[in-house]
Amino acid sequence: KDFRNKVKPNWCPGCGDFSVLAAMQRAFANQGLNPEDVMLVSGIGCSGRISGYMNAYGFHGIHGRALPIAQGLKLANRDLTVVVAGGDGDGFAIGMSHTIHAIRRNMDITYIVMDNQVYGLTKGQTSPRSDVGFKTKSTPDGSIESSIAPLEMALTAGAGFVAQGFSTNLKQLTRLIQEGLQHKGFSLINVYSPCVTYNKINTYDWFKEHLVNLDEDEGYDPSNRMMAMQKLMESNGLVTGLIYRNENRKSYEEQIPGFREMPLTKQDVKIGKEEFEDLLTEFA
Ligand code: SF4
Ligand code: MG
Repeated sequence: KDFRNKVKPNWCPGCGDFSVLAAMQRAFANQGLNPEDVMLVSGIGCSGRISGYMNAYGFHGIHGRALPIAQGLKLANRDLTVVVAGGDGDGFAIGMSHTIHAIRRNMDITYIVMDNQVYGLTKGQTSPRSDVGFKTKSTPDGSIESSIAPLEMALTAGAGFVAQGFSTNLKQLTRLIQEGLQHKGFSLINVYSPCVTYNKINTYDWFKEHLVNLDEDEGYDPSNRMMAMQKLMESNGLVTGLIYRNENRKSYEEQIPGFREMPLTKQDVKIGKEEFEDLLTEFA
């Protein structure tokens, strides 16, 4: 199945988000999904535009609120494959509390963050992922706030699936997205997706020099949460690959008796005129 559509992305040439889009399209196709069964919800930001660039259902939500929308959709129609995509500002600033609670809740949703460590859409301000000392229009003398560590945060919140990719490694990123889709529960995939226009520090070359690929580390065990935390802390989060997966943690949906029997959207909710009017009175 083809998840590409004819809309031309209006990202800057060279933006890391192009590869994330390609990896998502490939991963969905490789998983044998049908476009009509995929719901892509996005937040606000350059990356948030992605929901319009995919041949699937798209919902361009509001800033920081893509996760609550996605969870509502999944509750209403659990037969949909629900995927959320957005940026670091969207998910780790205004949307951070939703991110933490969505991880705790553990609904079967895949969350892909395009992390460029800057606010691109609003023309280059410091984001919660920017490094200390990062100079922008909003921090002309350099950022004095520490950068958030989203993956350590996810592990402490109880995440069952944590991975990290890099835009230029399309093969690994596609595989990680597929693994996230296969995981029964909430999966967080952070992707270093360089902003070529506003982040002149964390560039493709900078990442190539600093990133360590866990796929090449034979001693690494992604089922070991302590090892995952240690690896993230000692590398300052500069790793790619599957960082942690707990296949024993039950999803939210699995723990509700009868939940899987039939999606709400397919249930017969016929009500008579009288019940309808009673409802109107009750909620008036
Ligand atoms: Fe990509 Fe940055 Fe351009 Fe936005 S401003 S489209 S993040 S390169
Ligand atoms: Mg950003």
